[in-house]
Amino acid sequence: MSDTAGAGEADVHSVAAEALDAVRRSDDLDQLDEVRVRYLGRNGRLNGFLRSIGKLGDAEARRQMGQTVQALAERVREALEERRAELQAGDSDDEPLDLTRPAPRLRRGRAHPVTIAITEIGRIFAELGYAAISGPEVEYDRYNFTLVNQPPGHPARDSHDTFYIDDQRLLRTHTSPVQIRSMVQRGAPQRVIVPGKVFRRDYDATHLPMFHQVEGLCIDQGIAVSDLKGTLEYFARSFFGPDARARWRPHHFPFTEPSLEMELACVVCGGSGCTVCGRTGWLELLGCGMVHPDVLRNGGIDPDRYTGFAFGMGPERAAMLAYGIPDIRLLYENDVRFLRPMP
Ligand SMILES: [Zn+2]
Repeated sequence: MSDTAGAGEADVHSVAAEALDAVRRSDDLDQLDEVRVRYLGRNGRLNGFLRSIGKLGDAEARRQMGQTVQALAERVREALEERRAELQAGDSDDEPLDLTRPAPRLRRGRAHPVTIAITEIGRIFAELGYAAISGPEVEYDRYNFTLVNQPPGHPARDSHDTFYIDDQRLLRTHTSPVQIRSMVQRGAPQRVIVPGKVFRRDYDATHLPMFHQVEGLCIDQGIAVSDLKGTLEYFARSFFGPDARARWRPHHFPFTEPSLEMELACVVCGGSGCTVCGRTGWLELLGCGMVHPDVLRNGGIDPDRYTGFAFGMGPERAAMLAYGIPDIRLLYENDVRFLRPMP
């Protein structure tokens, strides 16, 4: 073999390494036999080194080369035998088809916790006669802000870190612009909920750049704060269980007057105080209020004839509270080890 003429020990080692690799990569007995012939056969590559030994000058070099080739050939032979045993064991595994063996358990997919929360919120409000509607995610500045009482220069605009597309259009920062669209389209009376994505430039343990809101709007003659409270307390008991307790605190939103915040007795400690509720015993659930007369007017509805209430809640937050999820980002990392055990 001319390619091994005058070869040194390094060449023997590299050919042996090649042989061991070929053994490991053999997938069946035929392939394994080809490897055996190629490296260990009479005209194989390792024997080629033995034939070239005569060209080495002194006796000591010949003796050493002979020993090296023999030792490496032996290692390749052992590897071949091990691999042959493995492949034969693998073959016998496939053979008898045992129809009595239990079938492997299949894991079924499931809805994402946020999808489950949105579906459940929709189901509860459907029972109360609310229609689910949607609106555009790319919205006019006018609908997102001006028509819901936040004209240019209004300080509340600053609290929404907005993704602007140009000076008229943006990614909606809340689902409230759909209130205006729904009033214009449906008039009064109406009851709607608006589940959908909203966008803000924010990212930490409790904020995401994209999250969901479910907006609610109820307009009719004689709607009062008591209707708002009764509806949302019914919702809380349906969603979080019959023991859910709520309390109401005054708040401020530009598009409602009066404005309220609904808090839920902590679902973890039951109200005695823990780290989840910051030792207060209460968790913020949603913001709401009576629709501001100017907003009704902007939607083409006469505020002297009709009144209404509106609310906005976060299904991510509802899912976190219902399932005890500590970090909102877990919901969107899509790690099935986290998502699979969700109820
Ligand atoms: Zn608590």
